[in-house]
Order: sequence, then C-alpha cells, then structure tokens
Amino acid sequence: MTKTRKVALGIAVVVAAVAAGFLLSPKLQFLTGGALVNMGYRMQDHIHAFDMAHEHSEPGAIWAELQRQNELAASVRDSFPRSSEHPVVALLVCMDARIDTSELVGDTRRYYYIVRTAGSALAEPEQEMLELAVVNGVEVIVLTTHTDCAAEGAAADPELRERFPAVVELVDQREERIREFMARPIIHDAIAAGRLRIERARIDTQTDRLMPEPPHHGS
Ligand SMILES: [Zn+2]
Repeated sequence: MTKTRKVALGIAVVVAAVAAGFLLSPKLQFLTGGALVNMGYRMQDHIHAFDMAHEHSEPGAIWAELQRQNELAASVRDSFPRSSEHPVVALLVCMDARIDTSELVGDTRRYYYIVRTAGSALAEPEQEMLELAVVNGVEVIVLTTHTDCAAEGAAADPELRERFPAVVELVDQREERIREFMARPIIHDAIAAGRLRIERARIDTQTDRLMPEPPHHGS
C-alpha cells in the first residue's frame, strides 16, 4: 500500500469513528442540535428585511408576512415531521416576547407545556390548565416571573393601574393565587404523594437564565 493510500485509509477510519460516535451518542446529538438551533437564531436575529417593526408596516402587511412565513415553516414541517414527546414539565411564563422558552430550557423537543400570561398571573383558567397538565403526567411545574416585566411595571404605576385594572389585580394577587393553586385537591395530593414538585424561579430577561427562588412564605 502506498503512503497516500495509507493516509486516505487513516482519514476514512477516523471519519467513520467520529460518525459512529455521533450516531451512538444521544447526548452529543442533543448538544449539536442545540448548537445548530442557536446558530439559526443568530442567522435570523440580525436580518431586518423581513422584520415586523411597527413603524415600517401596517397591520395588513404584518398579517400577510406572518402567513407567508408560516407557509414556509409549515412546508418544512410537512416534509420533515417532528416526533411527539410526552411533556413532564409545565412552565408558567409571562407573555413578554423577549423570553424564548426553547432557549430557556435549551431543548426544542417539546417536553414542556407552556402557559403564558401577562405578568405570569395565575387566574382560575390557568390553574385549571396546569391541573390538566398534572393529570396528563406532568411531574414538575415551574412558576416563573422575570426581570423588567411590563405587567409588574404597570402594577407599580398609578396611571397604568387605572388603565389596566384586570391585569394589575392579578399581578397584585400573584402569591395569593399560587397558594390557591397549591391547595387544589389534585395538586395538593400529587405533591403529598411525591408525584409533583412545584418550583419558583425568576428569569433574567436578557439571558433567559432561570434563577431559582426559595419557596415563598405560606406557599
Ligand atoms: Zn412580563
């Protein structure tokens, strides 16, 4: 065998070993997938040609653009269907657009039920949604708030309190509503039986970092 052939064979063996290692390692694939998703975010983030900034558009054009983008995305999904996973975690997150829940958990596999409300308010319908999630097998609920929250800001501003009374009332009652939720029989029993864990965390809006909070008094 010539020297060139030996080098080519060596390279082929190394490439095959790396490929086999990749295919056999779910963790490596998970990390590489996450890196590629992050690369996708970076590729889209700086593009302004398709952006929906309100000063340049009117509602009809924004809706048309949204539908066009959905058509593109749906045709990709049509060709490459996703697998479905069984969610074991439910997240309560504010509706703030700066928070991306896939980035928050570093996972795009849809293991999460996401409930989003203004100011992470937990009114009765959201309590029922989370209870339904528990009945469907959720084992961890993470109740979040986040830094620089507009709803919290509204609750602290006398003028905005008057303009948005319903949201502000729910933000004011957040702790009380959480206690109410945890006292619901299904939730209470699941926690007591060790089948459910409820965690509290504040999200750093700039980085999507979860900052766990100790249990609040009485919750
Ligand atoms: Zn918010």
